[in-house]
Amino acid sequence: MSFNPFEFLSRAVAIDLGTVNTLIAIKGRGIVLREPSAVAVTADEAREVIACGEEALRMAGRTPGGVNIVWPLRDGVIADYTLTAEMLRRFLELAVGRRNGALGKKLAMCLPLCVTDVERRALEEAARAVGARDVMLIDEPLAAAVGAGLPAFEPVGSMVADIGGGTTDIAVISLGGIASSFSLRTGGRHIDAAIADYVARQYNLSLGERTAEEVKLTLAMALPGGMERMQVRGRSLENGLPARVVINSGEISHAISPVIRKLTDAVKRVLSETPPELAADLIDTGVTLTGGGALLPGVDRLLAHETGISVRAAESPLECVALGALRLLGDRDALEGAQLA
Ligand code: ADP
Ligand code: MG
Repeated sequence: MSFNPFEFLSRAVAIDLGTVNTLIAIKGRGIVLREPSAVAVTADEAREVIACGEEALRMAGRTPGGVNIVWPLRDGVIADYTLTAEMLRRFLELAVGRRNGALGKKLAMCLPLCVTDVERRALEEAARAVGARDVMLIDEPLAAAVGAGLPAFEPVGSMVADIGGGTTDIAVISLGGIASSFSLRTGGRHIDAAIADYVARQYNLSLGERTAEEVKLTLAMALPGGMERMQVRGRSLENGLPARVVINSGEISHAISPVIRKLTDAVKRVLSETPPELAADLIDTGVTLTGGGALLPGVDRLLAHETGISVRAAESPLECVALGALRLLGDRDALEGAQLA
């Protein structure tokens, strides 16, 4: 590819800082970074950051002296601002390159809805510190809607439900704004926790977090049914020794149903709070699911059954927010360009 200095100078970058996954997209290149939002810190008082993302997870339990793995955005609240900022810095450097820091980069940043204003401003500062001159903070549901290809700027209501790792954000979008919304601290992680609880109660077996997630990815369904089986390994709660059991899809789907119910209830709640004209639009436009939870088999059918309107998962649910934010940033620039001309 030839080097185009003009494109390079105006390079727009979008970041989706999620509770489980961070994605970075660059104009003209698409998604360039996809890492778990995890940080490895030394287990001593200094809590020095050793690594971020996938590299951090690989270190867990394998480093002399001990490391702790921190998910700084867990549950949609910034548990540790310093670590979040450091993670943001490292990911941006990784994606954009350290030496280009002085260029006039434009950055769109999406943060979970429940992040406070103070935290937002602090993270905006962190982005500026790595060379982003122009930081645009975007409401995540709007980015998700645009990334999912919904007519977000038209005078018609459309609903997006972003089921992330720690939070689910549900919003009705019209004319580029959020007409009604609700954010709950329930997401994929809570499904994993329900699975771990169930296996502990039923089989006296303690599962690691990653194993519980693996069970979800292999067996879980939003609707009951399915007879797939898998062997899982953990630690016996009776004698502390390694142990394994075989579990099936039916019991896991049953175990996660209370969490799924919270999600369906929240969608119904937003529907009931939506102004009548927009609610009427939703009969045609339906509900679009984004975020990793949209990939849970049957979640679309269950929601359609519960709400009576059509529900579909976006094409690349994990990428909608980052790609939508990039598009919004580009549209804003085009608009400003037109106004200047
Ligand atoms: P966040 O934006 O909060 O970082 P994501 O939208 O990246 O979250 O989604 C991450 C969540 O999606 C994780 O809990 C992960 O286990 C879950 N997930 C990913 N793929 C699937 C799948 N195929 N089925 C169910 N859940 C999934
Ligand atoms: Mg997200």
